[in-house]
Amino acid sequence: MKWSWRIGSIFGIQIYVHFTFFLLLSWIAVVYYSERGSLEDALLGIFFTLALFFVIVLHELGHATAARFFKISTKDITLLPIGGVARLEKIPEDPIQELIVAIAGPAVNIILALFLYLIMVIAGIPLDAKQPDMIHGNILAQFFWTNIILAGFNLIPAFPMDGGRILRGLLGIKMDFLHATRIAASVGQTIALAFGFIGLFTNPFLILIALFVWFGASQEANLAQVKFTLSKTTISHLMLREFHVLSPTDTLAKAIEITLATQQHDFPVVENNKLVGMLYRADLLMGLMQKGQDALVDEVMTREFVVVESSDKAEEVFSKLQSIPYATIPVTEKGELVGLLTKENIAEFLMFHTAMTERKSRSFFET
Ligand SMILES: [Zn+2]
Repeated sequence: MKWSWRIGSIFGIQIYVHFTFFLLLSWIAVVYYSERGSLEDALLGIFFTLALFFVIVLHELGHATAARFFKISTKDITLLPIGGVARLEKIPEDPIQELIVAIAGPAVNIILALFLYLIMVIAGIPLDAKQPDMIHGNILAQFFWTNIILAGFNLIPAFPMDGGRILRGLLGIKMDFLHATRIAASVGQTIALAFGFIGLFTNPFLILIALFVWFGASQEANLAQVKFTLSKTTISHLMLREFHVLSPTDTLAKAIEITLATQQHDFPVVENNKLVGMLYRADLLMGLMQKGQDALVDEVMTREFVVVESSDKAEEVFSKLQSIPYATIPVTEKGELVGLLTKENIAEFLMFHTAMTERKSRSFFET
């Protein structure tokens, strides 16, 4: 996620903090300070918030553990003011799996709450729900309620909260992924509107949450649409078929010449009909800076790169393109180079597809 800083890692999962989280910390410090006028209270407020985020990390690790059970790894966890986000390598396709992964987070909070409740019952500590002083109240009671609130908040049926995914998982048992996502996103946006409206008259923090939920829902719906469209086609339908190749013995000057004369930035390097390398724009620039334009392609090309087959599903390659630093992937058919796949290609394909779908839905309304 943009605007995030890495603070460490647990079980090989990177933990990041989003800059808005620091806004929350300063907001809490200001609120505590203005309510009580003591620096000590402001610091305690921050301490409590940091402890709260430790609980959120545990919640996210709940998702990560459930995902791992279905052999899906977690790339990283980002802490935001409204909680955390565990970025899974992919969303489980099976609705039941998505349901279990989504429930696992709030389940951690419920288990923690039960555990705290047991300790409090044994120790005879009252569950003072109306404790007005979060700082000086009993720390166990505070964390008990924190976990209950976290579980409750995350179960709100709106993306990007777990409740949104749980709702999609439940809908997904009866309908396809795209329709389930659309309905779940609409429910989420309706809730976001309600939050925003209530926030106008009560707590402005609710408006911030409403914005998060609104954009989370539309992002989720768009992504589902893209994946659905791409899942219906293979690479061979959207790859570039007209392109230039270079030979390892060509000079960088030739690459410059072709780049200027065409729209192509990245070149497959072919020797005896075999794909041996890729000359990406970054390689070309680096080569020019270090060795000049008379250097050979062979000296500067990338030798380890991702290759896809023309019969591969477009959807899988789309995810692959998101996770590699290059914008072009060479496409082969039984080992022979037949095309290039670029991000622009996919964007164009989606643009035309959307235009055609709109025409269909418009003629549906006209008739
Ligand atoms: Zn969660």
